[in-house]
Amino acid sequence: MLNKKTVDDINVKGKKVLVRCDFNVPLKDGQITDENRLVAALPTIKKLIADGGKVILCSHLGKPKGEPKPELTLAPVAKRLSELLDKEVKFAADPEVVGPNAKAAVAAMQDGDVVLLENTRYRAEETKNGEAFSKDLASLCDVFVNDAFGTAHRAHCSNVGVSSLVDTAVVGYLMQKEIDFLGNAVENPTRPFVAILGGAKVADKLNVINNLLEKCDTLIIGGGMAYTFLKAKGYEIGTSLVDDEKIDYCKDMMDKAEKLGKKLLLPIDTTIAKDFPNPIDAPVDIQVVSSDAIPSDMQGLDIGTKTAELFADAVRSAKTVVWNGPMGVFENPTLAKGTLAVAKAMADADATTIIGGGDSAAAVNQLGFGDKMSHISTGGGASLEFLEGKELPGVAAANNK
Ligand code: ATP
Repeated sequence: MLNKKTVDDINVKGKKVLVRCDFNVPLKDGQITDENRLVAALPTIKKLIADGGKVILCSHLGKPKGEPKPELTLAPVAKRLSELLDKEVKFAADPEVVGPNAKAAVAAMQDGDVVLLENTRYRAEETKNGEAFSKDLASLCDVFVNDAFGTAHRAHCSNVGVSSLVDTAVVGYLMQKEIDFLGNAVENPTRPFVAILGGAKVADKLNVINNLLEKCDTLIIGGGMAYTFLKAKGYEIGTSLVDDEKIDYCKDMMDKAEKLGKKLLLPIDTTIAKDFPNPIDAPVDIQVVSSDAIPSDMQGLDIGTKTAELFADAVRSAKTVVWNGPMGVFENPTLAKGTLAVAKAMADADATTIIGGGDSAAAVNQLGFGDKMSHISTGGGASLEFLEGKELPGVAAANNK
């Protein structure tokens, strides 16, 4: 599927290998609160260690906006990675990322050693793909491996810039796995292929809706974005979330589904409340009404019970399911039922089940279905752009096979 060279196609013995990972993990008081991304990076790192490479890791963390921010240091990641690998990961604490500490640490490396550089976004050039930082990174290594799917939709120094300055630039196992799962699901799915989209806004997913409609058999729309479709059908949606500028777009998509003979499932009933809960997990009084009977002073905050059943039935009869975006305000237990029903149906389905990262991945893990899915993408934005059918610059920059 993926026509790019991978870590299996190169010999790294004795070579300095710079690996761009996605160590953008959530931190609270300096502690890592979810280490999924670290665990997901281990197969590539272990392979390079076993093959005798000098493994130099780099990543961004949060948004330090081009300057050192002590709270966004990768030091806690070095510590936890050392434990996960059962091997010292030497941390090079340079505010300029490639500075005296990094250079000395790399110069002292033996085969199989591991060094972690400081947060790449401490450098202002990083997100602009500026040449100076790309050159600094390239000066440290003989070979570049990109294993950061989460930033593959961006052209930055630490994925795209550096690739163009080294002879050998390949992708790692995580990148390969992401692209194989998402690529196969979209381009070569076992049918029926059901795609589920939710989340807040239609505007964020225009191209995803359009592209998936062409590829799938059934497109399910839930979450906040469903109300713009319901309004496009001429329904009263009360004070529900709406993208008024996208009403014509929704009409076009409904027409397109009909022309292509695709099923487009929208909520037939909806869970409504007077106000959006504040704080988001505060108790909330709800009613479930038919989607064409939302009172003008109420708002839809989750799919209804009949809709949950309808969507779950479609999921259970699928052979491939791709899901991006929650069905309601899942952060509130009263409004998480629709998202829970879809997650449960996916867990029960005899199908390849793929979660497109971000909020949906958080919802599935929070609801305890994480290990029941075939694949949970580590990149929300990147997986969405992939589902739009776009080429990801971080992948395109690697050497072809
Ligand atoms: P990612 O691409 O990271 O997976 P997403 O597409 O799931 O993200 P958003 O588009 O931000 O993310 O949507 C998620 C948010 O939408 C959640 O915080 C959820 O509470 C909110 N949401 C879902 N349904 C509704 C609704 N009916 N009204 C208002 N907000 C909603």
